[in-house]
Amino acid sequence: MVIMKIFVINTGSSSIKYELFDMDHHKIAAEGMAEKIGEDSGILTHKKILANGESKKKVEEGVIADHYDGLNRIVELLIDPEHGVIQDKAEISAVGHRVVHGGEEFQSTTIIDENVIAAIKENIPLAPLHNPSNLMGIEVAGSIFPDSPQVAVFDTAFHQTIPMKAFLYAIPFEMYEKDRVRRYGFHGTSHAYVSEKAAEYLGRPLGELNLITIHLGNGASIAAIRNGKCVDTTMGMTPLAGLVMGTRSGDVDPALHFFLADHLGMSLKEINTLLNNESGLKGMCGTNDMREIIKKKDAGDAQAKIALEVYTYRIKKYIGAYFAALESLDGLVFTAGIGENAPYIRELCCRGLHKMGIEIDPEKNNRTGNGIRKINSPVSEVKVLVIPTNEELKIAQETKRVIESEIKARS
Ligand code: AMP
Repeated sequence: MVIMKIFVINTGSSSIKYELFDMDHHKIAAEGMAEKIGEDSGILTHKKILANGESKKKVEEGVIADHYDGLNRIVELLIDPEHGVIQDKAEISAVGHRVVHGGEEFQSTTIIDENVIAAIKENIPLAPLHNPSNLMGIEVAGSIFPDSPQVAVFDTAFHQTIPMKAFLYAIPFEMYEKDRVRRYGFHGTSHAYVSEKAAEYLGRPLGELNLITIHLGNGASIAAIRNGKCVDTTMGMTPLAGLVMGTRSGDVDPALHFFLADHLGMSLKEINTLLNNESGLKGMCGTNDMREIIKKKDAGDAQAKIALEVYTYRIKKYIGAYFAALESLDGLVFTAGIGENAPYIRELCCRGLHKMGIEIDPEKNNRTGNGIRKINSPVSEVKVLVIPTNEELKIAQETKRVIESEIKARS
């Protein structure tokens, strides 16, 4: 069996995001998203990617009854004579699913069977918002593509090499043993992808590299990577920990919760909403769009200025912490929407770190570009790289890899 067309899906509670990869030609053939599933009116946006890299878009509005209906309509578009890219759904060799929480069971990508489904269910308490939707995606795809193998790629898997001293919280040990309370980390697919790309770019084996990878999107996290393996990360048991994010606070004093409850009379649900949806950049300066915040700062807005200082100071502190944890560093990698596109942020994060061997070249940093680029000065001991992330491609590659090795093992 030749694995050529891989369908990648990321299922949310009311959405299905998808890409169809043509692995033979290393490109996306089609992509899109079904949104507002189960609501009064849904939207299905489908793009067929043309040979010249441009896309032909089709938007359908109307009720999308449920995830099954949503995925069925996506498949109809994929095989549509005008907007489609395949003749028959049987051409899809495999389906790769983004699954948020794999707990401690999954250290790597896995072919989905009943035991895997049961284990993802077991991890629902650790990711109550995400794992149920991911399971729904697996169930629906299983019924629509009964003959294609399905694969789970976990956001947590890359971080399973983190040692106990870095993942254990200093609370009673039974809570780890019985209730699985510990640091897990997320964005693993992105950290794994950019670390592999960094090794390729630097022309060195990943297993010999110490890296700090900084994923700055609407969600944000840093990973410390020693000899190619993750040894620490900023997100914790949930994605709320660590860096300041678009709407998430990142690290706060854990006793803040008691203050909010005792003095402001907030319920646990309200505190959860406050810290996840109303904090971070948005809480500090009214918006979580980094382009807008930088514009406001340039126009003299004091709140935008301090929000950027808090945001970049937190990143800089973690660079220092992870440098100490790794003891030596080969590369610092910026990725995701902000990391790839905001030179001002990269500059603030690295400013004054020349004694740690980190020095950005302002001209290289300010140059715009789409691909991988090196932005450190010639004297900087640490290579500073900007690497576009591509979690969907990584999911497709992982899906191909595990299925091919299964086929090989059987033959
Ligand atoms: P992501 O979650 O990776 O899509 O990243 C979203 C974040 O990237 C948002 O805060 C955007 O404002 C930010 N972003 C996207 N493009 C730019 C840009 N050119 N300059 C600064 N921030 C950007």
